[in-house]
Amino acid sequence: MCHINDNYLYLMKKNNLVTGLTFPSSLKNFKRNFCESCALAKSTRVGPSRTPQVRVQPTEISKPIISHTSKPKIKYQVKNRSLFKKWSMDFKGPIRNMYILIFTDSTNDTESEGASRLRFCYFLKYKSDTLTFIIKFVNQLETLLSTNNIISEFIILKSDNGGEFTSNECKKIYEHKHINVQLTSPHTPHQNGIAERSNRTVAEMALSIMLEANIPFYLFPWAFRASIYVLNRLTCTTLHFQSVPLYWIDRKICDISHFRTIGCDVYANLNDTERDSFGVRAKKGIFLGYSDQSMHIFT
Ligand SMILES: [Zn+2]
Repeated sequence: MCHINDNYLYLMKKNNLVTGLTFPSSLKNFKRNFCESCALAKSTRVGPSRTPQVRVQPTEISKPIISHTSKPKIKYQVKNRSLFKKWSMDFKGPIRNMYILIFTDSTNDTESEGASRLRFCYFLKYKSDTLTFIIKFVNQLETLLSTNNIISEFIILKSDNGGEFTSNECKKIYEHKHINVQLTSPHTPHQNGIAERSNRTVAEMALSIMLEANIPFYLFPWAFRASIYVLNRLTCTTLHFQSVPLYWIDRKICDISHFRTIGCDVYANLNDTERDSFGVRAKKGIFLGYSDQSMHIFT
């Protein structure tokens, strides 16, 4: 499924984090498969050996309690703390004269009850349009939080020191919208590590999808949208394999039964105005992915 680590799927199934996830074989006989698209898209160079880092365990407050019943059900200890307050943003690209601005929730689970790693992405023709899309993101986030009764005390935006994030117009908007801004030092991408890693994850997934499905390269924005859509419904190490990003929005178990293989054939139903009385009733296309409102089909 969109080339995520098979172990993640296994843990999502085992921990009942989503509904609609099925496996071709039983969990007991679950085996990892080799994927050539992943090998091509995610190849990395082995660096010098380092002392293994000990990962700090989450505090008991942020740890969800899973009830192992037949129905997927997760109980969380709710604390009245602000969620989604810190977002890392960075560009991917340019790819074919287009920039992808990705926002990743980088709230630490010691700062809030939930570190969601929820993502949003926007496509820009010019970096000078950055401010427009920052405003769009903030408005979209505020609407999402208010409709789900989530208290948002303030928003922190973390970015590198690029001129597009530090212009006077940006500063005015930050002040107007009560946004705190954290800028990294020049030429230190590791200080914005969450955004850098997140962008890489999204790009690798998008490339794997395109290679596997033989999707023409100029359709890459749809692959990025599909990656973001899927990643917002998948667990990860930051979530300790105990929840998916979207859970933290509405506290509901996410249903992924509508997921399909990207690149598969689809038959879109034609309405009466689009066909003759004796014409075909559907149009064949290639499934390109999802958005929150619809499925994308290439015909
Ligand atoms: Zn793969």
